[in-house]
Amino acid sequence: MTISTELERQPIDCRTAVRQLWDYLDHELDAVRMAEVTAHVERCAECGEHFAFARTFLSALSASRSDVSDAAALRSRVVEALQREGFSSDA
Ligand SMILES: [Zn+2]
Repeated sequence: MTISTELERQPIDCRTAVRQLWDYLDHELDAVRMAEVTAHVERCAECGEHFAFARTFLSALSASRSDVSDAAALRSRVVEALQREGFSSDA
């Protein structure tokens, strides 16, 4: 995979999409990457499920606690849950 600074949309694979999952949900990505991930998740049912799962988790989290001090630990717990569902970041 080549790193491109051009605006042309190149489809990203599942691995790339999932690797950017948290940054995507935190809106930490630039507009081009946000669009790439959005496009992938909309087309890919598998990633769509993972992203929906994570998004639901984050909303529940922010709804229940506004001062999350151990967000990183909670995140890794979600990643573990995803992996138990059969998802592998090495896929
Ligand atoms: Zn995918």
